[in-house]
Amino acid sequence: MEMLKVSGNTYIFPGPTTIGLYLNDNKATIIDTGIDENGIRKIFNYLNEKGISINSVINTHSHADHIGGNAYLEKKGVENFYSSEIESFFIRNTEFLPQYIFGSKAPKFMQNKFLMAERTKNVKTMLPDIFKVIDLTGHSWQMIGILTEDDILFCADAFYSENIVLKHPLLFHIDTENFLKKMDEILNMNYKKIISHGGIINDAERTININKNAIVNIINKIIDSLPNYMDSIYSSLSMDLNFNSPWEFYLNMVPFKSILTYLERNNKVKFSLREGKIYLDKI
Ligand SMILES: [Zn+2]
Repeated sequence: MEMLKVSGNTYIFPGPTTIGLYLNDNKATIIDTGIDENGIRKIFNYLNEKGISINSVINTHSHADHIGGNAYLEKKGVENFYSSEIESFFIRNTEFLPQYIFGSKAPKFMQNKFLMAERTKNVKTMLPDIFKVIDLTGHSWQMIGILTEDDILFCADAFYSENIVLKHPLLFHIDTENFLKKMDEILNMNYKKIISHGGIINDAERTININKNAIVNIINKIIDSLPNYMDSIYSSLSMDLNFNSPWEFYLNMVPFKSILTYLERNNKVKFSLREGKIYLDKI
């Protein structure tokens, strides 16, 4: 278990989902809890040995890989869980994430640990005022960024590290316009260091440009294939990007549809119904 000091009282535990920690008189606030109880159990024991107790948890958003350790901490007696209003609903009612991804009651194959964590019973929406809360809507319905008193910005999935962009170029998000806008806002913010899903980002401008280019590439692919049936466009993306399972097919359909919404709202694409299928035309 490695606890890396970022600055002052702000630390991170590197891992598949970076877990943040802010220390205040041997009491810790944890920022996101990882995908399941394995990582957070080790962190809990490590801190215990050092005489540090976990006082509170802030979840940047409700995705399973950011709240998966909540239930373990709740069982260990942690009482203060915080997130934004909409995300806290999804953290308390975790069956709704696979449901909104699928678009209806979700089949069993969607109820895996990547899409559905254990529920957290109590989640508050008024965050401790030692943290500055930044609205990062776009990746999810109401994701928040957290700026600690050491000027360290935790921005969760507001953008992805380069290797993730290469692997998953559709970049999961639900609101393309805000997803792009928030990346620009982050570039104009003042902070000492920025931590995203994969850890400390040393060159935010370059990484954000890689993210924006990935979206532009998908947009160009869609526009170049028009006019076309929506299902045909998505099928060819699905084959290009090598989705391995039905749940990945549905998961990636969310950013795909978000991009279509973005194009429709910007008068680039027109939806119609032809032969029982959605047909997309250039405007
Ligand atoms: Zn996420």
